[in-house]
Amino acid sequence: MRWNSITVKLGLAFILFFIVVIFPLGFSINKIFYGFFYNEVENQIDNLSTRYSRSITDIEDEQIINMFERLADLTDHEIFIVNKNGMVIANSGLPSIPKGSVINTPFWEPLKGTGTIKMEFKDSVTKKRYLSIGKPIIINEKFQGGIYVLAPTDNIYTSLDRVRNMLLLAGIGAIFLAVGFTFFLTRKLTTPLLEMEKATRDIAHGHLNTKVIVESKDEIGSLARAINYLAVELNHYQTNRREFFANISHELRTPLTYLGGYTKAIQEGLYQSEEEKSQYLSIIEKETNRMTKLVNDLFELSKMEEGKLDFHFEDIDLYEVVQSAILKTELKAKEKRIEILLEGEEGLPAVRLDGLRTEQIVINLLENAIRYTEYGSITVRLWREKQQIKLTIEDTGSGIPKEDLPYLFERFYRVEKSRSRATGGTGLGLSIVKSLVEFQKGKIYVKSVVGKGTTFVLAFPVIDFNEGD
Ligand code: ADP
Repeated sequence: MRWNSITVKLGLAFILFFIVVIFPLGFSINKIFYGFFYNEVENQIDNLSTRYSRSITDIEDEQIINMFERLADLTDHEIFIVNKNGMVIANSGLPSIPKGSVINTPFWEPLKGTGTIKMEFKDSVTKKRYLSIGKPIIINEKFQGGIYVLAPTDNIYTSLDRVRNMLLLAGIGAIFLAVGFTFFLTRKLTTPLLEMEKATRDIAHGHLNTKVIVESKDEIGSLARAINYLAVELNHYQTNRREFFANISHELRTPLTYLGGYTKAIQEGLYQSEEEKSQYLSIIEKETNRMTKLVNDLFELSKMEEGKLDFHFEDIDLYEVVQSAILKTELKAKEKRIEILLEGEEGLPAVRLDGLRTEQIVINLLENAIRYTEYGSITVRLWREKQQIKLTIEDTGSGIPKEDLPYLFERFYRVEKSRSRATGGTGLGLSIVKSLVEFQKGKIYVKSVVGKGTTFVLAFPVIDFNEGD
């Protein structure tokens, strides 16, 4: 066990707590007990001495005096009586002050003033300790002497010692119990923590299938679930990254092979005619363009993933943005004899978007529509629906099989690889579009029927000026 472990820290905290709380408590209890016993005894002998002093009617009467001596034998108290000169005339059994001896003046003189004398008394012969209360004997209003009732205090101290020992024992027992309990508790607490530490290290070393098995529903359980979730996410991220690099190398290898092959053919004069040579050159140009597009798309994606893409949000008229996007793609559409139609209400409420990025989204979707449509038309619709502006781009192209739809927005996902390649696609367009839409708090989804066409639906929240944002 390490010195800075939770077990040691908690254990020390408990012990400190007991020292700070239990021992002062024990001390106070001890004091209370002592006061209680002492008062009890004091009251008892005070009562007795008062009663005894009043019942003496004649200090010379031997019978009465002897009776007091015998009375003392029946209890565990001692009694002695002194006459008006301080001479002991009765003694129930205190060897240090035998009958006939005179006690010290301060021990009897104050009785003359009808006062009470209370003091601790230790018999010098038996070494026993007593609490003594003396009362004056007044007969016919004259001071005749005093009677002292003494209660042994040794048994009070013995009882107190016993109580103190019991408290001490209970305190020590409680400390042991606390230490045991701390050990048990911290073991329960630290075992899963150590397991999690090990699992986290394993995960850090790349063992991403590591799982922490903690079933408790408390904070520790929740931490374990968070670690498991982290491992799953990292696993997912790593798989993604691996696929991403595999895809990139594949995507780069193909154009590079073409470039290498055709450049060599031209260098070595492996062409039959000038026409063939210019065909080769146009392939080289096409592949170079493809690679440029791929690199640009990758750059855009990586900036987006790092959150480094700047957005200049402004209140824009989506209708104008769509018109501008159509203008820029119309030529390509015309080359394929495809018409682009725009159906929409002008004067729709403004949307807070980045104008250029939004145009890029629409251009991307229009270019796809043109690319995958052989005849027919492309219709762009724009309208308001509740608190959203909706935009659809519908084509009459090849359509996308149902099973491909869930993966369409994934990086490098292409329905027909060869066709996409032939048309210059990189498989990154839609994933860029989706990210751009979501960055701007919009939504995008796709509907498609093979052989009939595809519709991309976009929705952006309307700015409500009444709400004052
Ligand atoms: P690419 O650069 O290959 O076009 P995208 O990410 O833009 O990559 O699109 C992914 C795939 O989705 C395309 O390869 C294509 O198979 C399919 N696709 C996208 N738009 C359409 C569309 N309008 N009609 C039919 N298929 C489409």
